[in-house]
Amino acid sequence: MKFGGTSMGSADRMRIAAQICADARKQFSVAIVVSAMSKVTDLLLSTLRAAEEGDHEGVKENIRIIEKRHNETCRELLPESRQESVLASIHALIEEFERLSSGILMLAERPPRSVDEALAIGERLSATLMSACLDSSGIPSIAVNARDVVVTDGIFGNASPLMDHTRERAARILLPKLNSGTLPVITGFNGATLDGKPTTLGRGGSDFSASILASALDAKELWIWTDVDGIMSADPRLVPDAAVLDIVTYREAAELAYNGAKVLHPRTIAPLVEKGIPVWSKNSFNIPAPGTKIVPHAEGYGPRAVTSMANVALISIEPASPAIQGTMLMGRVLEALGRANTEVLAFTSSSYRQSFCFLIRKDEVDASLESLKAELSLELAHEYVHPIEVDDNVGLLAVVGEGMAGHPGLAGRVFTAISALQVNIIAIAQGSSELTISIVVRRDGLERAVKAVHAECKMGVAKS
Ligand code: ASP
Ligand code: MG
Repeated sequence: MKFGGTSMGSADRMRIAAQICADARKQFSVAIVVSAMSKVTDLLLSTLRAAEEGDHEGVKENIRIIEKRHNETCRELLPESRQESVLASIHALIEEFERLSSGILMLAERPPRSVDEALAIGERLSATLMSACLDSSGIPSIAVNARDVVVTDGIFGNASPLMDHTRERAARILLPKLNSGTLPVITGFNGATLDGKPTTLGRGGSDFSASILASALDAKELWIWTDVDGIMSADPRLVPDAAVLDIVTYREAAELAYNGAKVLHPRTIAPLVEKGIPVWSKNSFNIPAPGTKIVPHAEGYGPRAVTSMANVALISIEPASPAIQGTMLMGRVLEALGRANTEVLAFTSSSYRQSFCFLIRKDEVDASLESLKAELSLELAHEYVHPIEVDDNVGLLAVVGEGMAGHPGLAGRVFTAISALQVNIIAIAQGSSELTISIVVRRDGLERAVKAVHAECKMGVAKS
């Protein structure tokens, strides 16, 4: 099971998580993965930014806030006899963070490796508290730093697991504990390279940690505890009649996550595919709710959900000279984006002039442009390629559903519903799998378009 930041957010929440563990242990052997307490990773990160800027006072103040929050949680959570040793562990972790921050203050720069080491401290703090909570409630438990178990490549800030090594470590380190009835509380989000350099799996990466470990341990099921009832047909803040989906497929869940549904980290599904491990998305604030089951295959087809992303930008590139071969240009552009670690959310190309455009996240625009301009510097200087255009007054809407291919006329209905609102469609992309139709619209029409598509496809109505 994995508990997210809000499910670890206070002493009360940790107690509820411990109760969930106690119940699950009646049926299963359980290991859990925990996120940092809510908002802690953000606070750690802003502390490191303050350190880079030389803001000694800011660093000190943030560290004080972080330590206080964990100390208070500890005092509220544990019987007095157990507090002293846990407070000492918290203090030791805070000191570790202080040391890393001092390094950054001194260097006036944030080496990615130190950032990863420092950010993981949020999860190490919550795992320490959660493990002590379980232990004091009578469930033998041990906190495990994922750095010792999850082996990754060396892409700091966005590492990927090396599964064979991870499986070997999980068998060596976690299985004996499970077999002896001890519940391991493993830090989410972090790992380390084979030679021990600390890494993280990307923001929100604890879901991914959980699926990596579920796969490495051949888990029967993975339960992901969050603060919403499951995966929904749309964001309920935009669409009041959005409904929880009882079953979605792996591919649907991955597409939904990728296209902006916040309930699951986009990379969560991949490690589970080989073994077909089912995942439950459940609400620790509403335990009786059934949640969403994510499975390899399911019956029932058609559009299931609509997602949207507002913080995106459309970048257009157009050759200015017929001497430029469009395909080569696209290849180079994609390579430049890859080097900048940019994720391309949608890509379309159609015109005779070989122009093409693609959608990326707003916060990746600067790095992407820098990389593109370096790659195309000659062509831009000689005006073989028109100046790169960036339009950030756009939003992405994605309609997701397994087997939409079997619904002729669906795309037409979706487009009609959007244009009936006078919302301008700027670009469209549909993969050949027809699992997702991505539509780029003017930003100010995004919310209305989501509502209209949800109604048109009757997504709020349970189909299964
Ligand atoms: N604590 C990390 C973050 O906030 C990982 C996670 O919560 O999944 O990004
Ligand atoms: Mg999360």
